[in-house]
Formats: sequence, C-alpha cells, structure tokens
Amino acid sequence: MFFSSSGLYKIFRPAVGEAVREMPLTELKDKYRKISSLEKARSGWENEYEVSSKQCMHGPNCKLGNFCTVGRRLQEVNVLGGLILPVWGTIEKALSKQARQSHKRLRVVRIETTTDNQRIVGLLIPNAAVESVLQDLAWVQDIDD
Ligand SMILES: [Zn+2]
Repeated sequence: MFFSSSGLYKIFRPAVGEAVREMPLTELKDKYRKISSLEKARSGWENEYEVSSKQCMHGPNCKLGNFCTVGRRLQEVNVLGGLILPVWGTIEKALSKQARQSHKRLRVVRIETTTDNQRIVGLLIPNAAVESVLQDLAWVQDIDD
C-alpha cells in the first residue's frame, strides 16, 4: 500500500497487482487489518500469489469451475489467428450458441508474445466456447493429436 498525493491509498494485490481504484484511509481500515508480523505478511502474500495462478477469486466452489478467470493471475486465453475470414461465419454461429451473453459476441484481439515478441491478431475464443468452435470447424481431431 502506498500513500499517494491525492490522500488516497494505492492497493496492490498478489493476484492482480495494482488496483485501478485508490482507497481512502477510513475504507482501508474498515476492510483490512494491519499485520505486524513481516513473516505472516510474506507467507500470506506468497500463498495468495500461488493459489491465484490456478484459482479464481471465488474459490474452489465457484460455479463456473475452471472456466472462471476472475482475479486469476494466470489466464489461459484462446486466440484464433491466421486466415480467419473464410471461417468467420462458422465461428460466429458457434459463439451464438454459448450460454453467457459475453461469450456470444466476436472480439478481435491483438496480442504480443513476451518470449519472441510475435504479434498476433485474431479472434478471441472464450475458453468455454473452444470445444464448440473446434467442433464446428471439424478441427477437433487435429488438436487432440
Ligand atoms: Zn469464479
């Protein structure tokens, strides 16, 4: 936590890093408690950091299970790149069958890989929709190999 010039505190969390919203001291004291043991603070931070690589912020009983990525430090993202215009309609149809409203729309994304600075432009395929999209593209077997 850092005190900024605006009189508000910046919040850093082990899973997601710096929070966008800053917090006044009264709210901070209301929501959190101070830990005096540096060792306790360190082990708590490290534990949260570790857990957040595999689990969403709702915990192990989240109803979305593995598909939920809220508050997760590491997220699996599926992007379909390459020559996608010819299969655009197929993907659009596969996504329209998704249960969640946010999974139904086509989203173009641009990513840059950290290891080799590759730039990829493609369609974001929600994790929950990957199987359905692959099935409609009849690519399921190729992926399994
Ligand atoms: Zn969740």
